[in-house]
Amino acid sequence: MNALKNTTQKSPTFYISHGHKPIAAHANGIYITANDGKRYLDGCSGAAVVQVGHSHPAVLAAMHEQIDQLQFSYRTQFENQPAIDLGYKIVAHMPPGLDRVFFVSGGSEAVESAMKLVRQYHFHRGEHERTIFISRLPSYHGSTLGALSLTGYQPLQKPFEGTYQLYPKIPSPTQYRIPEGHTAESHAIACANELETNILAIGAHRIAGFVVEPIGGASTGAEVPHNSYFPRIQAICKQYGIPLILDEVLCGVGRTGRWLAADYWQIDADVICLAKGLGAGYAPLAAIVAKDEMVETVLSNGGFMHGFTYAGNPLACAAGCAVLDVIDNEGLVENAAKQGEYLLAQLQQLSERFDWIGDVRGRGLLLAIEFADKASKTPLPNDWKVSQTITDMAYDEGLLVYPRKSLNGIAGDHILIAPPLIITHAQCDELLGLLTKALTTFDTHYQK
Ligand code: PLP
Repeated sequence: MNALKNTTQKSPTFYISHGHKPIAAHANGIYITANDGKRYLDGCSGAAVVQVGHSHPAVLAAMHEQIDQLQFSYRTQFENQPAIDLGYKIVAHMPPGLDRVFFVSGGSEAVESAMKLVRQYHFHRGEHERTIFISRLPSYHGSTLGALSLTGYQPLQKPFEGTYQLYPKIPSPTQYRIPEGHTAESHAIACANELETNILAIGAHRIAGFVVEPIGGASTGAEVPHNSYFPRIQAICKQYGIPLILDEVLCGVGRTGRWLAADYWQIDADVICLAKGLGAGYAPLAAIVAKDEMVETVLSNGGFMHGFTYAGNPLACAAGCAVLDVIDNEGLVENAAKQGEYLLAQLQQLSERFDWIGDVRGRGLLLAIEFADKASKTPLPNDWKVSQTITDMAYDEGLLVYPRKSLNGIAGDHILIAPPLIITHAQCDELLGLLTKALTTFDTHYQK
């Protein structure tokens, strides 16, 4: 076996950066242990993934049972029972009207699939000019070129200019940096009205759809829009006949204390993208859920011209079924709401100690700390690399948090705090203790 001898040795595999990390050896509940024996509290569920915690016995048992029976069958040759069962379980958690499920393996594939389903629907209705998607700035919708066309985060796009579409972006509302002369409500409405402005400028007959994260993930740092925002967005989409696509890849499946973040505003979407918490890290699993009329239009005109080999993989779907059962049976959506409220209050209190923490926000167990000058709300200097530095310091303390670099001055650096939905009150305190140490270290070494 070719095990890496130490963490500085070059590995044949690579990911986003050169950074050398210890090898993860095993994990249980909200903890993950490296092969050097050090234990980390998973304060961000990897990348907001591990909804039911690591090594949940019910999920492992369901996966063992499934792999003994059938590990793969191809969707054009066979249906498989776990995929059908998971389809029903997902639909049971959807708002009325969203009842057709298309499986994929990850969030970017889900977003691509939503775009292509909507586009093909327009095509069969003879609306050939409807090719332009509108999305928001900042936003993150994935790494593939279609999803990147929707993404509003320049550093990820720059090297690929010319290979993706330059779709229009409207501003994401913020409750933190409300522009002068606005209230939170009027600012949210003004941001929503930008959608109408774009539709009118481009022509509704050319718009394929509007794509939005109901509660921002890493892009906005858990920005929760004012309650006036989505009713206005909904009204504009209905008025101009624009399909509304919700990207619930990060904020869905109980993460925000409701099954869907969209449930906070009863949004009537045409397509919803789910990923991360659906497979909860047990298997690559994601889905789009769409309205029957859209799906039937596509299926009865020669079929959806899109699909992936691993779509609805039986092992992945068996894991997904078990994950959703655990979430329901253990009341994890309610727990996310309850522990999230406690964590948010504690983080807000903690933030008062540091004049370089500008904002603490979020819903349920999707929380963020934004680093900015408290008085002026100005983002901290780029060369402080504050979110990465604090993430590294937390790592040293044995706490995992999720960093995001500043968006060229529009917003400050932030970290996401998004632990598994099984977290207990005592474990929230443990997380807060470790985070306090990391923040204090930063304060001592970088600020004085
Ligand atoms: N959409 C949102 C809102 C996300 O947060 C992400 C990933 O972080 C994606 C899409 C892409 O998901 P994946 O990394 O599984 O492709």
